Amino acid sequence: MSISFYNTMSRKVEEFKPVRDGEVRMYCCGPTVYDYFHIGNARSFMMSDVIRRYFEYRGYKVTYVMNITDIDDKIIRRAQEEDMSSEAVAERYTAAFLEDSARFGIRPADIHPRATQTIDDIIALIQGLIDAGAAYVIDGDVYFRINAYEAYGKLSRKNIADLEVGARVEADTRKEHPVDFALWKNAKPGEPTWDAPWGKGRPGWHVECSAMAMKYLGQTFDIHAGGNDLIFPHHENEIAQSEALTHQPFANYWMHFGFLNIDNEKMSKSLGNFFTTREILGKYAAEVIRFYYLQTHYRGPLNFTQEGLDAAKTGLRKLQTLHETLLDVPSGQTAVDVAEYERRFVEAMDDDFNTSAAFAVLFDLAREINTSIQKGGGLETASRDAARSFLEQSAVDVFGIIRTGGTPVADNTLLDGVMQLLIDIRAEARAEKQWALSDRIRDGLRELGISLEDTRDGTKWKTGE
Ligand code: AMP
Ligand code: ZN
Repeated sequence: MSISFYNTMSRKVEEFKPVRDGEVRMYCCGPTVYDYFHIGNARSFMMSDVIRRYFEYRGYKVTYVMNITDIDDKIIRRAQEEDMSSEAVAERYTAAFLEDSARFGIRPADIHPRATQTIDDIIALIQGLIDAGAAYVIDGDVYFRINAYEAYGKLSRKNIADLEVGARVEADTRKEHPVDFALWKNAKPGEPTWDAPWGKGRPGWHVECSAMAMKYLGQTFDIHAGGNDLIFPHHENEIAQSEALTHQPFANYWMHFGFLNIDNEKMSKSLGNFFTTREILGKYAAEVIRFYYLQTHYRGPLNFTQEGLDAAKTGLRKLQTLHETLLDVPSGQTAVDVAEYERRFVEAMDDDFNTSAAFAVLFDLAREINTSIQKGGGLETASRDAARSFLEQSAVDVFGIIRTGGTPVADNTLLDGVMQLLIDIRAEARAEKQWALSDRIRDGLRELGISLEDTRDGTKWKTGE
C-alpha cells in the first residue's frame, strides 16, 4: 500500500512515487519575517510538518526545507516605520517565527535557508536565465520573459492571453510583455542591496524560492507545498523560472493548504479579527489548537471559532486520558487487536492524509480499551504495549497532540507566555545592541533557576539548573 494525495498540478489524487526510492524531498514556502506569524500561517506550517512526520512514520527518509524570506518590500516598509534596519526587523521576526513554531509543536525544517544567505545562488539562477534568453535587464531591473516558457500557467490553469488583459491595467511600459515579472529589483536609496553583474539591487520574492529549493533539493524534487494563495502567481512563477533554466520538472507534486477564516470571514487586521499564533498560544495549549486544526481536512477551508476550539479541548481530553490510562492500566487477560487499528490509521492517512478519519480510529481504540477495563479486566501486557506504542507514534509523533514527559499541557500556557515575552524582549535588546538589558534578563532568570540557551532554532528555556 502506498500514500496517495492530491496533486494541484493534475487536480487529482495520485499515488506518491518519489524521485529516489524511500526518500521524500519536500519544500514548503516559509514566512516573510516582517511580523509575528498569524494563526492562518500556523495552519499551513503545521500541516506541512505533520505531512512530513507522516512520511517519516511510513519509513521514508525526509529532507524538509522551509525558506525564510528575510528581504522583501514588507520588511523594508516595517523597518522604515520603526526606524530600524531591515536586518534587525528580519532578525527579530525570524527568532519569533522559530520560537512560536517550536511552542506550537512545529518541528524545525532540516534546513531553513534565508534569502539573504542565498544571494549567490539567486544571482547564478538569474544569470542563467539571462544567458538562456529567458530574462532581460532594463535599467538595472531584471524581468522574466514570459514568452520564453511556453507552459506558463500549467499549475493555476491560467493562460497568458487572459492574464495579459488584467496585467495591462498596471503595466510597466518598460516591460516587453505585461505579464513579465521581476527577478531582480534595481537598488533604491536606503534599501539593502547586493552586487550583481547587471548592477546593485535585491532579488524578487519568486526567484528566492526557486533558488533555495533547487540548492538544497536538486533540480527535480518530490513535493512543493504552501497555502492556496500561493498557487498563482508565486508557484506558477517558481515553475517558470526553474523549468526555463533546467528543462526538467521542478517539483513532481504540488500540495496546497486551505485557508483559515474566522467566524466565516477572511481574517484581516482591518476587520479586527486577526490573531497571531503567540496570542492564541497564550490562551490555549498548542495541542488543543493542533487537534482542532487537524479535525479539518488540509485542503478544505477551516472556520476558526471559539466554540470549535473549546469543543476540541473536550475531544482531545479523551485521547489524553487514553494515553494516561495506558501508562498505568493493570495487567490482565483482555487482548486488543492493535494491529487492526494501526492498519486503519494508515489506510486513512494514506488516503490524502485524512486526519479526521485517523482520529476516528484513535477514538475507537479508546472506546474498546475503556470498555474492556470497565468490564473489570486489565489489558494483556502485549496489547497494552502495542497500544501505547501506537498512540505514541500517531498522536504524539505524527500529530503532536499529546505531550509526553512534560508538564501537563493545559496548565503550562501562562508560564510559557511570560517566558516567551522575556525571550522576545531580550532578542529585541540584542538586535538593538542593548547588552546591559539583555544580560539583565538572562542573569535575572538564572537567579530564579531558569536558564536560556540560544540555539539555531531560537532561544529555549529550561528550569532546574
Ligand atoms: P506569508 O508570510 O503571507 O507569505 O504566508 C506564509 C504561509 O502561510 C504561506 O504558505 C501562505 O499561503 C500561508 N497562509 C497565509 N494566510 C493564510 C491563512 N489565512 N490560512 C492558511 N494559510 C495561510
Ligand atoms: Zn515560495
